[in-house]
Amino acid sequence: MEKQEYRIETRLIHAGEPEPRIGGAVTLPIFQSSTYEYAGQDSYDDLKYIRLNNTPNHTALHRKLAAMEGAEDALVASSGMAAISTTLLTVLSSGDHLLAQDCLYGGTHHFITNDLQCLGISYDFIDGDDVSSWKKKLRPNTRAIFVETMTNPTLQVADLKSVVAFAKAHGLISMIDNTFASPINFRPAQWGFDLSLHSCTKYLNGHSDIVAGAVIGRADLIERIVRKLNHLGGSLDPHACFLLHRGIKTLAVRMKQHNDSALQIAKFLDRHEAVASVNYPGLPENAGYRRAIALFDGFSGMLSFELKGGADAAEKLLHQVTLPIVAPSLGGVETLITRPVTTSHSGMSPEERQRLGITDGLIRLSVGIESTEDLIEDFRRALSA
Ligand code: PLP
Repeated sequence: MEKQEYRIETRLIHAGEPEPRIGGAVTLPIFQSSTYEYAGQDSYDDLKYIRLNNTPNHTALHRKLAAMEGAEDALVASSGMAAISTTLLTVLSSGDHLLAQDCLYGGTHHFITNDLQCLGISYDFIDGDDVSSWKKKLRPNTRAIFVETMTNPTLQVADLKSVVAFAKAHGLISMIDNTFASPINFRPAQWGFDLSLHSCTKYLNGHSDIVAGAVIGRADLIERIVRKLNHLGGSLDPHACFLLHRGIKTLAVRMKQHNDSALQIAKFLDRHEAVASVNYPGLPENAGYRRAIALFDGFSGMLSFELKGGADAAEKLLHQVTLPIVAPSLGGVETLITRPVTTSHSGMSPEERQRLGITDGLIRLSVGIESTEDLIEDFRRALSA
């Protein structure tokens, strides 16, 4: 069986590893060298130099990331935002127009509404559910469409099949931030997306100890994005490459526990009398449930919820829980809890947040891999306090 035909759990471990193993090392060592002997390369981008993202640590990761999502190629970057900003700056030029989902991670939202705008790149937001409204927003200069697999922090699942069909029908590059789902739950290339983006700071590394990003997808686009990244300088340090490489190997077992635990916690919260609403696509009453069942292999470890007591009750809960750590970010082995209005989405205007359902009382939970029973017990006690 060819390595790319193995199941994802096997590919995470074996795909992309150097053959033969360097010095016989079972674990790829860290190549802590900024430069490499000149070997007659004709092109600048082929020189072996740390900023050009081509040390053995980078190339092994690129192969592994591409194999994970069944895509043609991949690159790593110094953060999720470096991956997202470099990709948008590659596919869009001054005078171009972008369609983007209305509810997005705050950093991406800010980059589109402020930084791209300053460079003469315009945008329109689309409602991921309302496919018939997208055509009205299309302009002759629209070049790309950007969505999230599950929106941060409201966990909406857009009509992703229609996003791909719409992009193909109108010659747009389709991009999806797959951070919340992870490649275990969703592999965008297999559904026709041109590019999948990740904050590897989250699930892919999984241990809350590095910042990193990735772009996975069409080889012709990846080549252009790497060249832009080489000049913008957002390359990942080899030590961080090593940690990311190590983290990826356990992604499948971690995601299984994240998926299982979050589903049980979502059900527990949904039934609790102090809870007003729960956003989790694994709950049958969730608006995205049918799509999630059709597209995903799991619903992820991310959920958000509101308490009947609003923002005050939310703040109290954050002080009452003992296992979840009150912190931004997500996707690590430890459970993290935050109010997005104070962290990931604090840069958005209050009106915009309100319109998207990011209320002051909304609590976002990144369920870790601790015992589910312990977490539920902690929430039961904190909610009754
Ligand atoms: N995409 C999503 C969905 C995120 O939640 C984040 C960060 O929270 C990012 C991208 C940005 O990632 P990074 O912090 O690695 O730059």
